[in-house]
Amino acid sequence: MSLGGSARPLFPFSAVVGHEDLRLALLLTAVHPVIGGVLVRGEKGTAKSTVVRALAALLPSRRTVLDCRFGCDPADPDPDCPDGQHPPEAPSEPRRSRLIELPVGATEDRLNGSLDLERALSEGVRAYQPGLLAAAHRGVLYVDEVNLLHDHLVDLLLDAAAMGRAHVERDGVSLSHAASFLLVGTMNPEEGELRPQLLDRFGLTVQVAAARDVDLRVEVIRRRLAFEAAPAEFAAGWRAADAELAARILAARERLGTVLLPDTELRRIAALCAAFEVDGMRADLVTARTAVAHAAWRGARDVTEEDVRVAARLALPHRRRRDPFDEPELDDKALDEALNQAAEQAGPPPDTDRQDPDRPDTDMSDPPDPPDGPDGGGPPDGPDGGGAPPPTDQNSAQPPLDRGSAAGDGPSRPAPAPAQPFRARLLTVPGVGEGAPGRRSRARTEQGRVVRAALDNPHRVADLHLPATVLAAAPHQRARGRTGPGLRLLRDDLRHAVREGREGNLVLFVVDASGSMAARRRMAAVSGAVLSLLRDAYQRRDKVGLVTFRGAGAELLLPPTSSVPTAVARLRRLRTGGRTPLADGLLRARRVLAAERLRDPKRRPLLVLLTDGRATVPTRAGNHPMADALRAAALLAGDGVATVVVDCESGPVRLGLAAQLAAVAGAPVVTVAELSAEQVTGVVRAARAA
Ligand SMILES: [Zn+2]
Repeated sequence: MSLGGSARPLFPFSAVVGHEDLRLALLLTAVHPVIGGVLVRGEKGTAKSTVVRALAALLPSRRTVLDCRFGCDPADPDPDCPDGQHPPEAPSEPRRSRLIELPVGATEDRLNGSLDLERALSEGVRAYQPGLLAAAHRGVLYVDEVNLLHDHLVDLLLDAAAMGRAHVERDGVSLSHAASFLLVGTMNPEEGELRPQLLDRFGLTVQVAAARDVDLRVEVIRRRLAFEAAPAEFAAGWRAADAELAARILAARERLGTVLLPDTELRRIAALCAAFEVDGMRADLVTARTAVAHAAWRGARDVTEEDVRVAARLALPHRRRRDPFDEPELDDKALDEALNQAAEQAGPPPDTDRQDPDRPDTDMSDPPDPPDGPDGGGPPDGPDGGGAPPPTDQNSAQPPLDRGSAAGDGPSRPAPAPAQPFRARLLTVPGVGEGAPGRRSRARTEQGRVVRAALDNPHRVADLHLPATVLAAAPHQRARGRTGPGLRLLRDDLRHAVREGREGNLVLFVVDASGSMAARRRMAAVSGAVLSLLRDAYQRRDKVGLVTFRGAGAELLLPPTSSVPTAVARLRRLRTGGRTPLADGLLRARRVLAAERLRDPKRRPLLVLLTDGRATVPTRAGNHPMADALRAAALLAGDGVATVVVDCESGPVRLGLAAQLAAVAGAPVVTVAELSAEQVTGVVRAARAA
């Protein structure tokens, strides 16, 4: 959707139905921008962006120094403004607060601005091209799908939002300018989570969903259709309501400085944050600021318990995650309980008689995760029919055994709880890709380090390779008749930097879940390894998929997704037992990869096959199972798929079948133990076919 200039009016803020939390969060940050932005989480089709775009129309227009591209306030111009020092009586103009959208594929130059090196070199002037941070000054900066934005850019963004300034420090040039804006990010959690460190830096979070109430839905549709039929008339009908909201924002801003935060409420906030076991003090500060903004918004003089409650609901959910695989959420019941706990501590400082030595200990203040991650806790696994003794170093909380109910022939049972996850070693796809930014394999990127200079391409002038350009121009200076300062530069001299960074990949796990693998200790080790690799994939921004094979055939347990938490949840549903259709597993993986190649062609796959190499089910009757498996491996190699074989064979007698398979697939072989980054001696045994 484009902003489309003024031709088509925006859907009015006041006309939005439902989304109370979202509207309130936006209004409160508009009142008090230092709250630090709003993160809106929700699935597609929930009109998140309509509401956000409507906000900009409520923000007051402000006087701005005429022609200043950095939006200086004439009453208080930025002394470091790159457009020069504005004189005290500089002419000014009113400028509307704008909504600037940061596209997910934006470069650092686009965000931060860049030096116009072409002009600098040829005309000898210091010309700076402002970026989106400058454009967003005194307005709204909106990032749709902020979870897909490169981490590096999210850092820049949040730094600027927190400081109200942008700093540009590169190519030997250092400048800074004011960049005070309301930051709003939207994301669909199903498409991948934001890293917890970044999550914490957003002031408020709101979860949005489509209304379940029929009357509400009817009203949403009715207004949407009316707007689409006659946008201008529709907008005109809501103009007065929007103007009233805008006036209320202004009034609340003016009242902010006079709102009182009583000690009782401050203590309530501190007790709440303590009960939620949030990290650091950011949560307390944001909650306090939001409570003050809410009081100002109500037109009240003092912050009350209700202000704190509203603030906590918006400021705390994303700060109490204990693990990247937990959903950030905070329901009303939980909040009530925590508020009740906090109420006991919110009064005046208790005297020693009354002091309760116990920390608030409701189910809100979950203990920190045990080190073995989301599956930890629960009694040790009991003995089982698999013959192997239960592992002693791990816990499992198993649902009741549900034998034989899963698809496929042969007995089936839930997989044992994964063994303790470890920090996985880096597995990469060979070569240099061009995939989405990530942290796995080498790739051409726009943010990585410069590896060489190349002839200019007209779209890349911003990323000029200065030394290479000067070197290209230098030999021609006399011929071009240079007399004065400034290089005589032609477009043909321009060289751009070729950068290399890391990309995320599609890591497709193909897991043998058959009876041959189901000795419980071994299966625990295998799913522990997959869990470790999944966590690794989460950090490296990979997509992941999960194919398992056992019994009669292969199953796509999880189609490729960016949501690693979903993969972890699916892994818990893994069932084991039955025979070993290894070839089917590989062929299924091959089909999944072929489909993904069409969908997301730049994302290079890495197939991680966890197997002991044994195959007992052929692709069709009469075939030799092992020969089928080797043929399937050869097909994958023929497709150019990068594969790593994790050899899960254990026990005194080893057949080395996994290594044979790996040789055909052109894949390195590692043992489960060697997957750990801590395993110093675990050198990957290359088993490449000649
Ligand atoms: Zn200026």
